[in-house]
Amino acid sequence: MDRIRYMSTRGAETQIEASYAILRGIARDGGLYVPDRIPAIDMDIEDMVNMSYQEIAYLVMKDYLSDFTEDELKACINKAYDDKFDTQTIVPVVKKGDITYLELFHGSTIAFKDMALSILPHLMTTSMKKQGIDQEVVILTATSGDTGKAALAGFADVEGTRIIVFYPKDGVSPIQEKQMITQRGDNTYVVSIDGNFDDAQSGVKDIFTNVEFRKMLGENGFRFSSANSINIGRLLPQVVYYFYGYAEMIKQEEIKAGEAINIVVPTGNFGNILAAYYAKKMGLPVNRLICASNDNKVLYDFFRTGIYNRKRDFKLTNSPSMDILISSNLERLLYEMTDFSGAQTEELMAQLNKQGEYVIKNINDFGCFYGNYATEEETSAAIKEVYDETGYIIDPHTAVGYCVYKKFKDETADESKVLLASTASPYKFTKSVMKALDSKYDKVDDLALIDELKDTSGVVVPNAIKEILEEEPRHQRYCEKEDMKKVVANILDIDL
Ligand SMILES: *Cc1c(COP(=O)(O)O)cnc(C)c1O
Repeated sequence: MDRIRYMSTRGAETQIEASYAILRGIARDGGLYVPDRIPAIDMDIEDMVNMSYQEIAYLVMKDYLSDFTEDELKACINKAYDDKFDTQTIVPVVKKGDITYLELFHGSTIAFKDMALSILPHLMTTSMKKQGIDQEVVILTATSGDTGKAALAGFADVEGTRIIVFYPKDGVSPIQEKQMITQRGDNTYVVSIDGNFDDAQSGVKDIFTNVEFRKMLGENGFRFSSANSINIGRLLPQVVYYFYGYAEMIKQEEIKAGEAINIVVPTGNFGNILAAYYAKKMGLPVNRLICASNDNKVLYDFFRTGIYNRKRDFKLTNSPSMDILISSNLERLLYEMTDFSGAQTEELMAQLNKQGEYVIKNINDFGCFYGNYATEEETSAAIKEVYDETGYIIDPHTAVGYCVYKKFKDETADESKVLLASTASPYKFTKSVMKALDSKYDKVDDLALIDELKDTSGVVVPNAIKEILEEEPRHQRYCEKEDMKKVVANILDIDL
């Protein structure tokens, strides 16, 4: 069979090499790159039971990264999943109560985005060599909190790269902000904006699709790329852990090989759950994909009605990494929903842009997705419930997943075993977590609660937290959301 190449969801590009798609991030027509087919996993799942995370990573990614040699891909994997992680297994899989938690938060910034962002810089530098490019790569990223720090940590001091991160001034947790503004590395830049995450994301997208600005950059020896979850190099590494988690469930005798499970994913930009969908299409036995939202429940409405409507108030919640009204990665699913019509996908995205909504008629064909949401109160109550019942402490994002799983079970009576993507360490959100356990912590701030959390959970304080307690801020750039392009030009020393 032909090796896999990539095409844009808006139809203008086809036959793109993986390395090129990774460098470019977003297609020229504004679309997202998708593989021209989804490969079947090329091994019996029960044979994965004794494989390491790194071995499974190679097996899952090799057909997608079809212009990488075996040595190249294995080198990337080994550089990414090493002792940056605080556990040799990389992703612990733990059963508490009737739920198996896939702990995706053992990397350098204790959140799941480390899973992809520790490998992306290596995929990119390898891709640069393959494409014969000697320009400096400029990574431009909008973050709702976790991506920013994870990208900064991944790219810091990687030769031939610079990274500029934009975040919403009041849209990230104090710990997330401290993590970003203390980032080391001469090639790192952190900018807060006076807007929400969607403003930051739109600003970055505008810069990316501005042909003139790109050209000017090229003339100055730079080349833009994106570390955002729209980059195919972010999506593919996320497919890996669903296979790994499933193999672990077999090993722990939670399931038999071949038994279909349900996967719950606390969702914002729709990247992590889309990766689970790809795993399913590759042959992982998955029954339902449970898409868990917080009060920004656009996706819940979408899966119920087929109407995607972003015209609503944006809500700040205790699960800020899911405070999103435009889930960018959904475009990849839309492309499937329109039967791979670039023209239709483009039309829908234009409607979203102009009218603030679009309608999908065949939503019922995608019944493997189930959507629901959890309110702030429900999320806090879930943290307490899990702690009271099992002694295990989950973060607010994971708690949203937990609540939605309970609702799913009540609604469907589906008894399949469940794997819940646990997307952040509770140490990243100490205040929300401790307040949920006891209202007396209401007046204490995040940093002051670290020791309390340690005593309550018995889990050692991660290095990522120790570091921010000791480091001084190094970044203090701020701009209006209209000025993001100017800031980029300024950082790169380019006259507009
Ligand atoms: C980014 C993030 C999410 C949402 O993941 P998406 O891929 O954007 O859907 C959930 N939880 C945490 C902690 C995150 O950082």
